[in-house]
Amino acid sequence: MNSQEILDDIVAAIRPQLGKAGAVANYIPALARVNPCQFGIALRTRDGVEAWAGDAMTPFSIQSISKVFSLTMAMRLAGERLWERIGREPSGNPFNSLMQLESEQGIPRNPFINAGAIAVADCLVTCGDDPKSEMLALISSLCDEPVHIDEEVAASEAATGFRNVALANFIKSFGKLDNDVCTVLDVYFRQCAIPMNCLQLARAVNFLCRDGSHPFSGVQVISARQARRINALMLTCGTYDAAGEFAFLIGLPCKSGVGGGIVAIVPDTLSLCVWSPALDASHNSLLGQKALEMFTSRTGLSIF
Ligand code: GLN
Repeated sequence: MNSQEILDDIVAAIRPQLGKAGAVANYIPALARVNPCQFGIALRTRDGVEAWAGDAMTPFSIQSISKVFSLTMAMRLAGERLWERIGREPSGNPFNSLMQLESEQGIPRNPFINAGAIAVADCLVTCGDDPKSEMLALISSLCDEPVHIDEEVAASEAATGFRNVALANFIKSFGKLDNDVCTVLDVYFRQCAIPMNCLQLARAVNFLCRDGSHPFSGVQVISARQARRINALMLTCGTYDAAGEFAFLIGLPCKSGVGGGIVAIVPDTLSLCVWSPALDASHNSLLGQKALEMFTSRTGLSIF
């Protein structure tokens, strides 16, 4: 079976299950009104072969998948210094939890929970010239198409992001946030509000299966070592308190978002993105997970 046939097969298996379980994120209107009965999947190999199926061209809110791009930028700008402010351990807690920040003195457990992504955004404000434009430029270059911020989503994130405001203030109270809370959160809320489709995301994370080299130009986006480290963090922390389950069932580094997208990396081989808006209790796409499980079972691909 070639890649296209595998993806078509997965769409056929997933379609009858659409709308039967899970719930779309409802903390903001723009996400609450998304039709849950959608499913898309796309992949791009290390050598640039692409395949897609289902609703792979429908844009959705990338939400926490943006944490992969902000981390990439921060690792590039700050190097090892980044790890003075952020840990590398799975949290075992929900993505927006405040709990561990208290005992860990304002050092978030990892860059993929909200607290960690806020610390990463702080680093981007300190080290970058214009983090929001730089992030759009990076993502647009990686997927070879212009991406933008959905202003409605960004405004709703800011209007309802009470926990994120609390997290940023809590980090600041430990002296571990260098910049103004509002400036840092503006970067974080806006990075969450970028709409992209499965094919664009499969392209945009493709550098992680190419030892850090850009999928179109071949220039190093980050070093091979840094790319390996991002993959390690995606495996252990990319799907919040379900990271163990993802490693067990899927066996690939993954990063999810509450818009229902999940990106996954098969190092040296391919990158893929699945999307289905209905989420499970850990806020990961329910059918997206199932699709990834089918993909790795059928192809035998795994990092183990
Ligand atoms: N915008 C969401 C938040 O900050 C993103 C969370 C996510 O995708 N897990 O709460």
